[in-house]
Amino acid sequence: MPSYDQNNIFAKILRGELPCYKVYEDDKALAFLDIMPRAPGHMLVLPKAPARNILDVGAADLAHVMMVAQKVSKAAVKAFGADGITIQQFNEGAGGQVVFHLHIHVIPRKAGVPMKPPAAEKEKPDVLAEQAKKLAAAIAAG
Ligand code: AMP
Repeated sequence: MPSYDQNNIFAKILRGELPCYKVYEDDKALAFLDIMPRAPGHMLVLPKAPARNILDVGAADLAHVMMVAQKVSKAAVKAFGADGITIQQFNEGAGGQVVFHLHIHVIPRKAGVPMKPPAAEKEKPDVLAEQAKKLAAAIAAG
């Protein structure tokens, strides 16, 4: 497996070199909105530790990221009235991974509404900003 690339786009977001629509942050994880959401409120949860994917992440970092995925899922149900949540996570190109810093997709779902295809459409910045605000408030409220 290739080694971790410090210049991948999510590493740059984690270093603050690129912006994101942040919904949650703690000392070990960051969660922000996917800019090409497959459904409204589509979030990505990342460990802060450098890890390419599930094949090289430390067990404690993986466990923490999943705990955060649960936290933001519950908040999405409250904030978006989601009927369900789809969790996705891709590993290596053959597994569908495009950005090589481990991330968990948390996708709020409405009954009967199919997901858009991956990377179909960039969402408008004001829509993402508003959704991030709503989700961050719901996460902070627990
Ligand atoms: P994958 O590696 O297959 O899980 O795909 C990477 C995901 O990251 C896709 O859903 C993209 O829409 C998303 N993405 C790419 N660049 C950004 C960015 N700058 N901010 C937020 N999401 C992004």
